[in-house]
Amino acid sequence: MGLLDGGEAPVDDGPWYSYETVNTTLHIYKDFIVPLLKNNPIIENPMDFIKIVSKIRGHPMAKAGIEFALWDLYAKRHKQPLYRLLGGVRDYVESGVSIGIIGDYDRLIKAISHYLDEGYRRVKIKIKPGWDIGPVKRIRKEFGDIPLQVDANAAYELRDKHIFIELDKYGLLMIEQPFHYEDLYEHSILQKLIKTPICLDESIKSIYDAMAAIALGSLKVINVKPARVGGLLETITIHDYALKHNIPIWIGGMLETGIGRGFQVAAATLPNVKYPNDISASKRYYEEEIVEPPWEITSDGIIRVPNKPGIGVEVLEDRVEKYTVKKLSFKIQ
Ligand code: MG
Repeated sequence: MGLLDGGEAPVDDGPWYSYETVNTTLHIYKDFIVPLLKNNPIIENPMDFIKIVSKIRGHPMAKAGIEFALWDLYAKRHKQPLYRLLGGVRDYVESGVSIGIIGDYDRLIKAISHYLDEGYRRVKIKIKPGWDIGPVKRIRKEFGDIPLQVDANAAYELRDKHIFIELDKYGLLMIEQPFHYEDLYEHSILQKLIKTPICLDESIKSIYDAMAAIALGSLKVINVKPARVGGLLETITIHDYALKHNIPIWIGGMLETGIGRGFQVAAATLPNVKYPNDISASKRYYEEEIVEPPWEITSDGIIRVPNKPGIGVEVLEDRVEKYTVKKLSFKIQ
């Protein structure tokens, strides 16, 4: 793998979104994935890699980081844009913006105006107990019928169901992950009480969660974060299964750099991606990108998919060097 082929495991410094962290990822690479690769030095494609690491349970983001890099390399070897190799059906992806808990109505309205002006096609706000019906009501009053959804990041319990029965009146595109980050059952109870689609994010870690959630009626939409489910192969498996069951998906993100964003973009070109994605412009989170060109949103809220081999952007080695905190080097053979 050359330095210019990029992969990214978009983990946090602590176990706040999932149990994986920077340190658990380094541990899995150093102590398990690298030794496995040394024992299996011939990898023809990303499918081979997934087979080799399948004996490692869990740690999807660690696996995804390397699987992504192999996809970039594989697509470049085939001189094809990655999205085409995956079966993507469009050369643009729709982009929505995700806004954290602002806690102040005027600042919230200002932020939304700003992002709508930038072109984002839908607005998602994070909600938590005490900051839920109020901001939604206010947004509907200020902006009318804009495409709007909320994301609770597992902040509620089933006994809070009245909040969602109330939110059901506001024509939201979906309500994301209201209950526990591992739950499927309680979500199935709520979905029967409201017509707004429930979208699960944290609860869907693999195809097995997706199959159970669909069978239980726990959701009507899935937010697939390719890194959360272990890479692009699992993303495609979930995508295809959901399509067969008439469950649309969209692609979410983990504040990836421009490298990880390339894989989100490629995944978002798949046919069953039916909603705007949490894929924003580079400048939304980063002052300086580590890829060239940076990812940009057009004034009508889309990201153009580069028609170049691999993820289609160039990894800037000097920038990667500049921001590197710790290096793990290894050689195979
Ligand atoms: Mg979410």
